[in-house]
Amino acid sequence: MTVEDAKYIREKVMAHNKWFEECIPMIASENLMSPLAKEMLISDFADRYAEGLPGKRYYQGNIYVDQVEIKALELAKKVFNADFADVRPISGTVANMAVLFAFANPGDTITTCALAQGAHISTCEFGAFGQRSVNSVNYPFDEENMNLDVDGTIKLLKQVKPKVAQFGLSVFLFPPPLKELQDTFNEVGCLVWEDCAHVLGLIAGGQFHDPLREGVNIVSSSTHKTFPGPNHGMLLGQNLTEEQEKKLQKAVFPGVTSSHHLHAMAALAITLAEMDVYGKEYAAQACKNSRALGQALYELGVPVLCEKQGFTRSHAIAVDVAQFGGGLECAKLLEDANIICNKNMLPRDTSSVRPSGLRLGSQEMTRLGMKETEMKQVAEFIARVVVKKEDPAKVKEDVKDFKRQFSTIQYCFNADEPAYAYHKLVQ
Ligand SMILES: *Cc1c(COP(=O)(O)O)cnc(C)c1O
Repeated sequence: MTVEDAKYIREKVMAHNKWFEECIPMIASENLMSPLAKEMLISDFADRYAEGLPGKRYYQGNIYVDQVEIKALELAKKVFNADFADVRPISGTVANMAVLFAFANPGDTITTCALAQGAHISTCEFGAFGQRSVNSVNYPFDEENMNLDVDGTIKLLKQVKPKVAQFGLSVFLFPPPLKELQDTFNEVGCLVWEDCAHVLGLIAGGQFHDPLREGVNIVSSSTHKTFPGPNHGMLLGQNLTEEQEKKLQKAVFPGVTSSHHLHAMAALAITLAEMDVYGKEYAAQACKNSRALGQALYELGVPVLCEKQGFTRSHAIAVDVAQFGGGLECAKLLEDANIICNKNMLPRDTSSVRPSGLRLGSQEMTRLGMKETEMKQVAEFIARVVVKKEDPAKVKEDVKDFKRQFSTIQYCFNADEPAYAYHKLVQ
């Protein structure tokens, strides 16, 4: 009964859509694409192939694809003030694999952060780093500041002399201390790479930090976290030699991609154009919101990490819910109240299955127009479930009422334009 199966699947997707309209979205690695960007995903680009670089393709039919990709590259360089960009990696992990293919041979030493310090799985032993058989060495971490221990890191870099020094986290509260490490990078002669998957949208808007001005040679990233684009990836570069740029391009194709999801590439180009206009305002508000959320939760008796440092400089905060049953239980209760977030390991945790923390992100709520006042309201919903152990079903009704006022995506081109065929098609 294939039609029934298709109907079933479509109904489930529609049910998901409706559910998320009624939820407060707080997963720090997610976001909402603008209607115009989303429209690109159902364009004919989705059905086509392109391999290689604009003007040097292996297939015909890429006239307009080339024009879009050239524009995407131009916008990426402008928005991030970069002298190299590649918009073909199909995800953040694939972008990381391309950097590994280009610049690290099996056995080479790369310094990086550890999983329990908030690193992403792709930079761990059982992720892409391990698959590439690099010798990865972890930096010493200062748990109190949720950042690298500067003196220890300088010592480590001098001792192991890595070929590549890699930075970037998935619980990314504070920027890495790159300025303090600059002299050591020069002394060791390593390539400096930062994985900005979580904070790319903040960087585009001039918040958090500016890696390409702080000695970073290569930025790898996803384009769907604080950067509100499609599920895709991107590479940026500064002060690379022509040979290094070519190596990176070759690592992307044919190294780790064939076609590069042209519809997503077009959606990325649209999002870059939107971030060029609205990025500053959006990123500043997302950072203000995460701090306001941290402060409000703290005042309601929920321990938030790094109170002394203002909780965060990014879109994310880390919350310690050990005394309220732990991350797993709290995340589930919150889901029952239509508040979507994830359990997360905190520095001293040993179990990733039953960690003591929650990670909360402000970026998607920001996209929906929420400001500091709304963060207080959201903190209260959370406290009712987590601290007061109110029935989540009851809180859920209030969450739904609250969410109704925030259904339009902000910081993007006018959604009333007739070009938005997407909305008409899905309704
Ligand atoms: C999310 C994330 C990635 C992976 O991104 P995908 O696009 O899901 O492959 C890589 N690195 C970091 C630091 C991340 O947070």
